[in-house]
Amino acid sequence: MQVKWDQERCCHAGVCVGLLPDVFKIEDGRFVIDTNEASEEAIKNVVDRCPSGALQWVDE
Ligand code: SF4
Repeated sequence: MQVKWDQERCCHAGVCVGLLPDVFKIEDGRFVIDTNEASEEAIKNVVDRCPSGALQWVDE
């Protein structure tokens, strides 16, 4: 699974960072997504709760 992030659509509500801070985080001022830090199911659950639709997951 791959997670895509659309910077233009992100409204910076912080839902992703709040729910899974080990996966969705800010490093050196950049938004980083580390899919190794949680289960696929947990990540998909957060992606589906992104209020702006900026996050999307795709099965590889
Ligand atoms: S949950 Fe979606 S809108 Fe909110 S900060 Fe994360 S990517 Fe941006």
